[in-house]
Amino acid sequence: MPKTDILIVGSGISGLFFAIKTARKRPDLSICIMTKEKANNTNTQLAQGGIAVVTNQLKDSFEQHIKDTLKSGAGLCDEEIVKMVIQQAPERLEELIELGAIFDKNKEGQWDLGLEGGHSQHRILHHKDSSGLEIEKKLLSIITQTANIELLENHQVIELNTETKRNEVNCTGAFFYDKNNNAIKYIRTRAIVLSTGGCGQLFENTTNPAIATGDGIAMAARAGVEIKDMQYMQFHPTALASGNKNPLFLISEAVRGFGAYIINDEHKRFLFKYDLRGELATRDIVSRAISIEMLETQKKHVYLDCRHLDQDDFFKHFPSISAHCNAIGLYPEKDLVPIVPAAHYQCGGIKVDRNGVTTIKNLYAIGECARTGLHGKNRLASNSLLEALVFAHQASNNIDKTIAAFIFSSKILLPKFSTVNIKNNYEPYQILKKELQKLITSFYASDEHDTHLAMLKIKMLKNEAENLIDKNEITIPFIDFSNMLTTALIIIKQCQPEKEHSY
Ligand SMILES: Cc1cc2nc3c(=O)[nH]c(=O)nc-3n(C[C@H](O)[C@H](O)[C@H](O)COP(=O)(O)OP(=O)(O)OC[C@H]3O[C@@H](n4cnc5c(N)ncnc54)[C@H](O)[C@@H]3O)c2cc1C
Repeated sequence: MPKTDILIVGSGISGLFFAIKTARKRPDLSICIMTKEKANNTNTQLAQGGIAVVTNQLKDSFEQHIKDTLKSGAGLCDEEIVKMVIQQAPERLEELIELGAIFDKNKEGQWDLGLEGGHSQHRILHHKDSSGLEIEKKLLSIITQTANIELLENHQVIELNTETKRNEVNCTGAFFYDKNNNAIKYIRTRAIVLSTGGCGQLFENTTNPAIATGDGIAMAARAGVEIKDMQYMQFHPTALASGNKNPLFLISEAVRGFGAYIINDEHKRFLFKYDLRGELATRDIVSRAISIEMLETQKKHVYLDCRHLDQDDFFKHFPSISAHCNAIGLYPEKDLVPIVPAAHYQCGGIKVDRNGVTTIKNLYAIGECARTGLHGKNRLASNSLLEALVFAHQASNNIDKTIAAFIFSSKILLPKFSTVNIKNNYEPYQILKKELQKLITSFYASDEHDTHLAMLKIKMLKNEAENLIDKNEITIPFIDFSNMLTTALIIIKQCQPEKEHSY
């Protein structure tokens, strides 16, 4: 029966950075990373814009970055957390660079800092327009060379096990689905770190990849852990409108920072009607303005206009975006680029303290699945890769000090069912998934939430899904779908009328 001192669920920036830091500090500990698909299939590798860090203390300051973050969060950030994250940023950046990540410099050899919505200064470090890919690649290459880290791809964690002793709940292991051998297994652990990313797949339009189904939220909720602020889903205003594609390709905010305009069907800029910052207002404001414009004009999208920009420079800064557009016959130097808002980032999540500890002491949550208090109602652009690094660091320091108190449980659990029904592309679940996406999208967009009706519909979807399974076996698409249902239900409950949502 397998066991590991620390189990990390997820191979994005937070899980990988935590693993490397902890493995170096504690070569005596065994660390296992499980990831439900290929290791690089993450939100992280899709990140384009980069990472927000104050590097030029002459023009910029921690105070300004703190102010911008608090303003974006609309009074709902935890100010102490905001200060901690922003003040730690330069050190974490140094570590990331030491691990091999490369960020662009200008001709003078200074950081080529990008500007994004809600930032009062240029402070986004980037690797062209594929910053996340650069980070993911470099971290993964270190992971595979680290002796006390085992990386298991195609291993989907499906349930956390908890035990209560002397009134204290501990997380003692997890069931997982080993896709390579088509088997459900159990692993014993002394601590678990959830770094499972977000839940954009709950919505019809999203920039998140297929793995983003809210698994960490659902598993933590089932284990009795507190989940907070799930009503604050951030929509990115500029996803490339391309029919029913899922996920939608993102046109980075940095493109607006570079000077692109957003225009309506009559080719007029309209954002100044909503905010004096125009294209550089925060994402919630720009997304809402675009949605209103689309509703009023009865159009399916608006446009991003890059035609007036220096084309050589544009191509140099955004090679991946240019290549993607060209591949579908769009040339930003002469064509308008159709865009729509899309679900992009989960501001809430598993409630943690400043060390990434959840309401269960040996269960941690870091990265997008965690609700740290940094983002409040609306994440400031490019603050999430930074948050992932800082909380991975905090959690790593904390586990180093606390893990001695957690010993392996002697209980070895066996899976309830031995038969696994994979049916990965099981069509009826795809249909149910689409229905759920439609339900959550319209529920979220509505100003007056009918919580009761939405919950009733979720119950009906659950019944339909249950009718599709054989009760004597585990059905994998059902597990994915029930995680989505659980997360959807949490969003619905937390979108109570007295709580505003972020879009
Ligand atoms: C298109 C796009 C562009 C972005 N651009 C930026 C940007 O420029 N700057 C910025 O700061 N942020 C950006 N973000 C947000 C940022 O990329 C994410 O918030 C961040 O990468 C999340 O990292 P993470 O470590 O939390 O998890 P992720 O990178 O999302 O990885 C989640 C991991 O968990 C695994 N997993 C999930 N469930 C299970 C399970 N049940 N069992 C096993 N494994 C599981 C997945 O397989 C995956 O490995 C962007 C996001 C997107 C989608």
